[in-house]
Amino acid sequence: MGLLADRLQRIGESATLRISAKAKQLKAEGIDVIDLSIGEPDFGTPDNIKQAAKTAIDVNFIHYTANPGIPELKQAIIKKFHDDNGLDYVPNQIIASTGAKNCLYNLCMTIINKGDEVIIPSPYWVSYPAFVSLAKGTPVYIPCREENGFRLHPKDFADAITPRTKALFLNNPCNPTGAAYTKDELQEIVDIAVSENITIIADEIYEKLIYDGIKFYSVASISPKAKEISVIINGVSKAYSMTGWRLGYAAGPKEIIAGMNMVQGHNTSNACSISQKAAVEALSGPQIELEKMVYEFQRRRNLAYSRLQSIPGVSCPMPRGAFYLFPNFSAYFDKEHKGNQIRNSYGLAYYLMKQAHVAVVPGDAFGMEGYLRLSYAASMDRIDEAISRIAEALAELTPSRKEKRKALNNTVTKIREFAELEPSINLEMRESLAAESENSFSYDNYYEWNVNIAGVILQLRTNSPHLNDFWLDNFYPAELEADIEPHGIIYAAKDIPGREARAYYNPDSHTGFFFKSAYYAQLRSLALGIVSDISEKLYNTLAVHAACFDCDGQGTLMFFPPSTGKSTHIAGLLKKGNTKIVSADLTFVRISGPAVVADSIERKFFMRTDFVEKYQPANVLFERSKCENVITSKEHCENNNCLLDDVCDLDKGEPYCFTASKNSKALIDPYWFGGPDKHTKRTQVKTVLIFKKDNFGQISEHLTSEQALKLLEDGRPPAEAVSELSYPFYNPYMLVKTTERIEQQKRFYKRMLDKCDCYLINIGAGSEKDVSKVISEITSGRGKEVLR
Ligand code: PMP
Repeated sequence: MGLLADRLQRIGESATLRISAKAKQLKAEGIDVIDLSIGEPDFGTPDNIKQAAKTAIDVNFIHYTANPGIPELKQAIIKKFHDDNGLDYVPNQIIASTGAKNCLYNLCMTIINKGDEVIIPSPYWVSYPAFVSLAKGTPVYIPCREENGFRLHPKDFADAITPRTKALFLNNPCNPTGAAYTKDELQEIVDIAVSENITIIADEIYEKLIYDGIKFYSVASISPKAKEISVIINGVSKAYSMTGWRLGYAAGPKEIIAGMNMVQGHNTSNACSISQKAAVEALSGPQIELEKMVYEFQRRRNLAYSRLQSIPGVSCPMPRGAFYLFPNFSAYFDKEHKGNQIRNSYGLAYYLMKQAHVAVVPGDAFGMEGYLRLSYAASMDRIDEAISRIAEALAELTPSRKEKRKALNNTVTKIREFAELEPSINLEMRESLAAESENSFSYDNYYEWNVNIAGVILQLRTNSPHLNDFWLDNFYPAELEADIEPHGIIYAAKDIPGREARAYYNPDSHTGFFFKSAYYAQLRSLALGIVSDISEKLYNTLAVHAACFDCDGQGTLMFFPPSTGKSTHIAGLLKKGNTKIVSADLTFVRISGPAVVADSIERKFFMRTDFVEKYQPANVLFERSKCENVITSKEHCENNNCLLDDVCDLDKGEPYCFTASKNSKALIDPYWFGGPDKHTKRTQVKTVLIFKKDNFGQISEHLTSEQALKLLEDGRPPAEAVSELSYPFYNPYMLVKTTERIEQQKRFYKRMLDKCDCYLINIGAGSEKDVSKVISEITSGRGKEVLR
């Protein structure tokens, strides 16, 4: 049983909160960080509002209130809608909640059924997709183009509607872009929603923060029909600088409000009694402070906007509301700083944090790559300074060195071996090794990058460009490069005088070390070991040492003990039509209800280059890829066979030989095998094959899950001489082998095998052709027929 509920896999941590946390941490370390990542006004709450709260406390207005809010507040909200928006609501159409966020969550729980589609124009406020996913709905994103001022185009909206479409999020003015809609623009969207009976979730929290004299129209005010299908979300957080008070409200059809009331009754209950009193004053009292704030925000926007215009390559539509700019920085992607390439908005945000000490939020967090969100909830001086710093840091980026397609530029003839690993060093030792590593990194030869492996964030800190290169190439970048707390860290220090090649691991802090080695097979093993440690606990996902294939949506996991023809069979399946490779040696498996889902978690396959013997097309692919330990001089050749046959490629003048060493590996993009026709990252596993080699018996044999488990547990097929394979389940990446953990793995394997058809394949019982035929029939789902 995993520690966490499956639902958590549907959402991520709020990126904006993480960036702010990082900025705060740097500030605490005494670094002058300018935080343009914040999503709240930097003003104080106006005094009259604070006074109303103080009075509420003094008169002991501190008990539970009516669940949907005190009548006095409901009246103030009704009056606000009447005066500001020309909308008339009655009390049972209003609810006050613990912030607009809470209203939105309650609303989604109230109206969304499993599988309902909810349209979210992107870029969007980060929490919308999470609300929809938690309610088991399906978010459907519509990109809103920069050329259209990031507003939703009615045609795009109409095109995205299906019979399952339930609702549309409409954030006006918009976080993160500042886009705001005119009455006519709203009219067009409303017409479509009305005719298709789609609920509009109208997030109007930034209503008051609108500039250039533009008049704000609530979507519900467009027509009586519009009011019937809309739920308006608003609150006091932004307009009155009351984010910490947690008070939002909603207005809409009474059935929906009654539903939200019910959801609220079982989680937060009423919003804070004191905040409710304060909100009455905010909505009904003098509005002068609000007007001053809007004036100030407009000045800052103008400054930030004009300063941004002067940065080469940056474009930005003029925001009409809220307090954010959403400039396009994509011209800076693929540039680099000291060899570290900026690949996406996370990378750029991370770079600006480190280099310019300015915190901004990557556009991808809002569902749009290429952009950054800059908040102007900071003083004029700070905004000015921040944009100067950004401009300076950007100017330091240099065009990325285009990788020279020189064949095998990573080849090293001198064979690298695994350095011995000490898998359970204590925390004290961890601290001292970390300090030693850090000390050996020089400022101008230091690389740090977070990757996301099966949901686990790992950070590499190294002074080896070679390892850094491998790390970037092989693993997907972490969703947030500015992540402060990776789940695990690997220190790889290349040159420490007096140190011998050695690796260490501290399981408590998930920190790995290795010294004096730049062998990337070792880095990969350590990384995958750490990830299997963490992902088992966190996500109930198991790293399974098996190759995986997909045939028409049917997945097969294949366990190959040594000498059972792994390369032959992988090559055979690759040559087959409707068959796609998922993973060549390590597959991450999770059980999701009745399904066993297998994922490949690396961008590249790390394959033995002697695979070319079985699969000729790989020859040219390997030549184009990064290789390690490829033999380029005859004195390092380990292949006795070819010496005997006298067919040495090196003798014949070839610059390298792919088969001369078993340690020779290539990092290869699986799409090179034939694009999406030959590779897929995910499949549902239906079948498990365990291979053995005996000279008698039949080629295939159906196994019960108990029998399959026993085979895997023993680490060898029956009737084979006891081999030196001592690890259970052939998982060579397991760093910590406690009895408890092995038992846990066993339970997982049992559940997995229970859900699959399991077979033993005896490659010794028939010709290669016959065996391939059986495998091919089983992988295409016809296993039972074959056996009959
Ligand atoms: N909607 C949007 C678009 C927001 O930007 C925010 C706050 N960042 C909220 C809702 C939540 O506001 P509250 O503080 O009232 O929960």
